[in-house]
Amino acid sequence: MIVSNETINEEKLQKANDIIVRLQNELKDYITKGHGPFLAAIYDENGKLIAQTANSVINENCSNNHAEMNAIREAERVLNTYDLSLYNLSLYVTSEPCMMCLGGIMWSGIKAVYYGVPSKRVEEITGFDEGFKPDWFNEFKKRGITVYGNIAQEAGEDVLYDYVKKGNTVYKPER
Ligand SMILES: [Zn+2]
Repeated sequence: MIVSNETINEEKLQKANDIIVRLQNELKDYITKGHGPFLAAIYDENGKLIAQTANSVINENCSNNHAEMNAIREAERVLNTYDLSLYNLSLYVTSEPCMMCLGGIMWSGIKAVYYGVPSKRVEEITGFDEGFKPDWFNEFKKRGITVYGNIAQEAGEDVLYDYVKKGNTVYKPER
């Protein structure tokens, strides 16, 4: 079921559904090339694609190279700014952002977040630890950031199941 921190806008939801389904399909190719199983894209308010990046933790040896962080970094490079709030940008991602990425999104000035598979299911399917995230829908709402979640969730879960089934790496620091 779709979750949101605003009254659901069907037009935004349909557009997000189209983009996330596309990302889930393209994600399979990224995984084949050695990326982690998450893909993010940032669009401007006119529907122009500004950045699209997959998780590159393993293939670039950097623990904070999550798809969302990579996309924010790329968008800021392309637009030559550290403050994306000037551009009314939306972030689309195949799974719910983890605790690090929520911080990254907050600092970036992104105005809307649309995600596919919720963290609980990501953890159940893969074993990745997505972190603790107290009431982030309301915290983002207070800061003017719209959130929609569980978009095309089943298709996203299939990609994650396939990632695990093929024996790809699930990294988790020992505690
Ligand atoms: Zn993350």
